[in-house]
Amino acid sequence: SVTPTDLTAWITRFDALVAEHEAELTALDSEIGDADHGSNMARGMRAVVAKLSAEPPATPAELGKTVGMTLVSTVGGASGPLYGTLFLRLGTSAGDRTELDAAELGAALRAGVEGVVARGKAEPGDKTMIDALLPAVDAWDAAVGEGGGVAEAATAALEAAEQGRDATIPLVARKGRASYLGERSAGHMDPGAASSTLLMAALRDALE
Ligand code: ADP
Ligand code: MG
Ligand code: MG
Repeated sequence: SVTPTDLTAWITRFDALVAEHEAELTALDSEIGDADHGSNMARGMRAVVAKLSAEPPATPAELGKTVGMTLVSTVGGASGPLYGTLFLRLGTSAGDRTELDAAELGAALRAGVEGVVARGKAEPGDKTMIDALLPAVDAWDAAVGEGGGVAEAATAALEAAEQGRDATIPLVARKGRASYLGERSAGHMDPGAASSTLLMAALRDALE
């Protein structure tokens, strides 16, 4: 099952992937937003990793709280509160467990993504991060339903996130800054869907 150390490896890997793809995320946001998504996420994740190494979490709930609160306080812009909510809800869902099995981690991820939906009020197809995240949690649950463990579930979730991310390209944005462009937002990948896919890639890397 998945320990706080495994979850810390997930977050550390996400920080590395965000740093590696920072310019790419910002370039996507320069097409349909204000060209700060890469720097927002990189700044936030650097702060998160510093916080986690200073105060290693003993439970998934503690990890969720530390990551979520750090993102909310260090990332300006839409993505900070949204990713922050994801981790805060994920932590709450874990309760006082010290480890999570595949179904429990799936439930925690779903609670996190539902928190993003509740906070941002985006629907599937609005060209946001939830277009990558919702298919990912659905694929996680389907893989677990078929008897898969965390490695299989994380691989399925990543594939679904990649498809959901790519499917944002033709969409017209209905939430966030990109929605100000109306029809002109079509033809560009949503930056938040791209960073959310990195989040699922990091989880796959940490759990395989
Ligand atoms: P800002 O738009 O404030 O500059 P970022 O550039 O960091 O913030 O993040 C933009 C991303 O946030 C978008 O690409 C989109 O995926 C996501 N986003 C924006 N608004 C919402 C929302 N209401 N619900 C879900 N995701 C959203
Ligand atoms: Mg932006
Ligand atoms: Mg901004």
